Amino acid sequence: MSEPFAVPVCIACGAALWPPRPVCPRCGATEFEQRDARGGIIEEATCHDGVALASVRCSAGPVVIARLAAGDVRAGAAVELRREDAPGGGRRVLAIPRAGG
Ligand SMILES: [Zn+2]
Repeated sequence: MSEPFAVPVCIACGAALWPPRPVCPRCGATEFEQRDARGGIIEEATCHDGVALASVRCSAGPVVIARLAAGDVRAGAAVELRREDAPGGGRRVLAIPRAGG
């Protein structure tokens, strides 16, 4: 199961949060709405214990650490972000390189 990545956005002040928090760090409000953030640009790609990871600036603003679906990706590349179930439990973010860059 996976779905397009989205981040919580504070309804009171508009701050986009990642990772999600129960309270907005900017204004203290506790109500959020989900904003689509499936588009992203890689800021840095690394390999950690054989797993390719990327810092991705998502379209809603925050930087997200995501697992790279392909290893040969450079900074500046456009990716699609998806949220999926991780093997062994929990959720993770997957960065899929966009065809044609
Ligand atoms: Zn806020």
